[in-house]
Amino acid sequence: MKMPEQLEEIIKHFSSFQGIGEKTATRFALSLLNWEKSRIANFAEAIQNISSVVKCPKCGFLASDNECLLCEESKHRYTHQICIVESITDCLAIQKSHTYSGHFHIIHGVLNPLMGIGPNELGIHALIKRISDQSYSEVILAINSTVEGDATCSYIRDQLPQAVKVERIGFGLPMGGSLEYVDALTITKAMENRKQF
Ligand SMILES: [Zn+2]
Repeated sequence: MKMPEQLEEIIKHFSSFQGIGEKTATRFALSLLNWEKSRIANFAEAIQNISSVVKCPKCGFLASDNECLLCEESKHRYTHQICIVESITDCLAIQKSHTYSGHFHIIHGVLNPLMGIGPNELGIHALIKRISDQSYSEVILAINSTVEGDATCSYIRDQLPQAVKVERIGFGLPMGGSLEYVDALTITKAMENRKQF
């Protein structure tokens, strides 16, 4: 059955989120109808403001008004360790496990030549430069264990100077499993049981 166009439009937007089907999207849209006008205006404003959040050019985390909270926080913490993750959600999962206190670098994906994702798209050269400029002596690859993830880890390792110690987590993590979906204890174990790569 057809809905008013305004509602159809909202349903279309909600359905575009990963994991949200049309039924849930419709439920969300219908509940908006019960909101006060001022709440709708606040919601619309919040959505509009999201465009001022950008990827931090240094670490790949989120920055707003040229300020990245992760870089800001890391500035006061001397470390020789840098942990490379493929997504913001993986970075947050590791932070939440309180098992690691070094710096992070988010590459936003993994190498996938068939999809046109190469080292340039992931900013690997900038990452390698960051590692040598900041003299990190230990690199922890917390990249999920998939065919593409494995290839990405090998590529990064091969670009690094031999003196840098490279380790990979993954022990206890299911093959193809994403850090984002595992519990803090599994992450802690995976971090503790990392192996030279
Ligand atoms: Zn940053």
